[in-house]
Amino acid sequence: MRLLLATHNEHKRREFARLLSPPGAEREFDVASLPASVELPPEEGETFAENALGKARAAAAVTGEVSIADDSGIAAAALGGAPGVRSARYAGEHATDEQNLGKLRSEAPVGSALEYVCAIAYVAPHQGAERVFEGRCSGRLSAEARGERGFGYDPVFLPDDGPAGLTMAELSDEQKDAISHRGRAARALTAWLKAG
Ligand code: IMP
Repeated sequence: MRLLLATHNEHKRREFARLLSPPGAEREFDVASLPASVELPPEEGETFAENALGKARAAAAVTGEVSIADDSGIAAAALGGAPGVRSARYAGEHATDEQNLGKLRSEAPVGSALEYVCAIAYVAPHQGAERVFEGRCSGRLSAEARGERGFGYDPVFLPDDGPAGLTMAELSDEQKDAISHRGRAARALTAWLKAG
């Protein structure tokens, strides 16, 4: 089955291809790239689901293809759920990962609860079908930033379900996919597609 991923980010497309067709498993889903000419709406919704749906609907409307899109971020319990949908621009509109992570560390106490959230929207324009799948990954803020892998807030995120003491940025792709918000949302989507 072909799924058009509503993103212009090649890194994200490759990550989704890996999540939807894990190495070693039979390849059931082809993750196609969005044509460069298709414009995506800005992520201005108040929820991850709203933002993901907006992008999947836009891609499906222009291409007529079954489309998926995601939106994700991190919520700190000590900050009432911030940065949430503003995770990518927490320290400013064009902030780097380091700046966003630095702001989180300056505001949330070490050891306080964090949660990664990912919403994946599925839009099949000819069936008029729309679904949103959510995945979560809980953890805590580490005292130091550690690890070279991953991106974003991973160096300070100690996942509750990961190997003790390791940050998300110290895990292999396979270890991260097994417990991550994105991995969990992707598996909810594929389980639903396979059941249908
Ligand atoms: P988007 O889903 O591409 O809009 O990204 C949202 C933002 O949330 C990213 O720029 C990161 O700051 C953060 N984020 C989402 N998922 C992860 C993750 O798996 N690791 C680290 N940061 C993440």
